[in-house]
Amino acid sequence: MHRRGPMVAAMIRGWASSLAGHRAGSWACKVYLDLSVRGNPSCAVTPTKIRCWVTAQERLPAEPVPGRPLHTTGAAVVPRPNSSASRTSSLTLLTSDGSEVRAVAKGARKPGGRLAARTDLFSEVDLLLAVGRSLDVVSEAALVNAHAGIRGELDRVCAASAICEVARLTCFDGTEDPFLYPILCRALLACEEAVDRPHLDLVVAAYAFKTLAHGGWRPELDRCVSCGDDVPTFFSVAAGGVLCASCAREVEGAEPVSAARISWLRFLISATFDQLMATEIDSETAYGLAGEAHVWAATHLDARLRAFEFMLSA
Ligand SMILES: [Zn+2]
Repeated sequence: MHRRGPMVAAMIRGWASSLAGHRAGSWACKVYLDLSVRGNPSCAVTPTKIRCWVTAQERLPAEPVPGRPLHTTGAAVVPRPNSSASRTSSLTLLTSDGSEVRAVAKGARKPGGRLAARTDLFSEVDLLLAVGRSLDVVSEAALVNAHAGIRGELDRVCAASAICEVARLTCFDGTEDPFLYPILCRALLACEEAVDRPHLDLVVAAYAFKTLAHGGWRPELDRCVSCGDDVPTFFSVAAGGVLCASCAREVEGAEPVSAARISWLRFLISATFDQLMATEIDSETAYGLAGEAHVWAATHLDARLRAFEFMLSA
């Protein structure tokens, strides 16, 4: 007499599970049970009375990995260079909630690979990440915006790289900030739209000042940061803004600043990217503002900004 019921099914699951030891991908016996119950069919069946044999051996599917749909992600900010010849890319991502996520994309460096084009620098992607032992693993990626207009032109690539560098240093793991993702996407779009190099410099300077101002490093541009005098004629990055002539004597590194330059700095922080794109600016002024933004960002983020430096030298 053969009985197969819910209890048996439960045993099969329990047995297979115990053989697998809950280890993902471990080998286990696939067990079929044949119950021979003598006597009262409704009697309790204990495991010792079960005859079983192994009919097959197979690799159990890996333990279900809790998938984490990343409400989309963000721009894959900086794929870190690999130290080995492996085809795995290590990505630093700015997600749509403004937090930083680090993940690996296996096979992303394989030419023509499924993830190759979707996890490229500057790409905006929807990702499905699986939780890995140390880093999350990209299991699916859908391209939202490749920002293809940036690629292929050195000036645009330099500007977008400088922006991504600042973005990477202003987002943090586990810290949400809804401001960061939209402004990064808009800045990358502006890198595609900019008609010339001065406007690219303007975009980078505006992005750096806006993001740092949002993060708490807003330069004081109206009054002397030391005494409150409303006729500032000097600027000091270390002091945090403009200074009057008498206070500037006591601050190392304070440099004379024109009223026009102060107006430009105000405009960088307050204007939209559309307004910046429509503004006329000469290359010297734009380069000076980008240089100012670089010093401001490098000082307050306390980091060497290599991509920013390269952009200014290119
Ligand atoms: Zn003063």
